[in-house]
Amino acid sequence: MKFKFNIKERWQRFKAWREQPSQLAPLSDESHECECCHTSFQGNYCPRCGQSWRIGRYSFKTATLGFLDVWGLGNRGMFRTIRDLILRPGYMIRDYLKGMQTAYFPPFKMFFVLAVFSILVMHGFNIKMETYAEDESMESVERSLKYKPDKDETIIDHTSLEADKTENSPFSVEQKDRVKDIYTDLLVYLVRFSVRFPSIFSLLVLMLFSGVLYLFFRHCPNIPDLRYSEFFVSLVYANNMCSIYCIILGFFCLTTLALLSILLVLIPLKQLSGYSWVRTILKTSVAFVLSLVLFLTIFFIVFFLIMGYVAVMY
Ligand SMILES: [Zn+2]
Repeated sequence: MKFKFNIKERWQRFKAWREQPSQLAPLSDESHECECCHTSFQGNYCPRCGQSWRIGRYSFKTATLGFLDVWGLGNRGMFRTIRDLILRPGYMIRDYLKGMQTAYFPPFKMFFVLAVFSILVMHGFNIKMETYAEDESMESVERSLKYKPDKDETIIDHTSLEADKTENSPFSVEQKDRVKDIYTDLLVYLVRFSVRFPSIFSLLVLMLFSGVLYLFFRHCPNIPDLRYSEFFVSLVYANNMCSIYCIILGFFCLTTLALLSILLVLIPLKQLSGYSWVRTILKTSVAFVLSLVLFLTIFFIVFFLIMGYVAVMY
């Protein structure tokens, strides 16, 4: 019984910690002399030349940080950002939007760093040393997309049904096949792209999805006057969080789980907005369905444009 109580108490303390604004280390009132320009000052950085007081003799730590700095990782709280994106993503994004920008790794820079890692993981940097992009399952997806039934097979095919119904249709069977080919090629490229560059693909999906989603979150309890730009940068951080899980799961070759990690986007949305779980899930699902309807409408408009193009050109 006591053990159970302890866990509950710990959980309460963890929850309280999560919701508190992030704290930076307090400023010491010690006086330092800058090694570079010999100015005396209090605080962590020289006000004249900007060098940290911590710089002493050259060490392995300095060398490691210098090496990481080449990749943009040596400073600006990469580790704090990863920790917070895992433990308190929505509250971290709130702190960032409120102005704690130097404390966190910049969202777009982080996106590109993570994209590089996820491409590495997808191209063989994992425990099985497997390249997912050239996986057999990929080939079978492509084959099933490009599959065409033979003439004597009695499979109900939409194109042949339509052809039977409207014999005076302005499009010949070859023209319809041509349109089908254009679409299967497009779909194959899309599937291939999503497997090879999952983080870029998910950002594209988020970008397309963000407009409608914003309408459902712009007057949320925590930030009643949320701007679209703020919401978008929040989604970039949320996407970075998903990428971190995706990279870890991908490294251990748990590909199905890695693909599902996009669902974790609900956690930062809930924490940032202050809506209940039910509301967050409901709003996100409705926004998703509405976006899908929107894309399908655009898809069919493009479809008819291509049909028109084929009718003129072939
Ligand atoms: Zn100085």
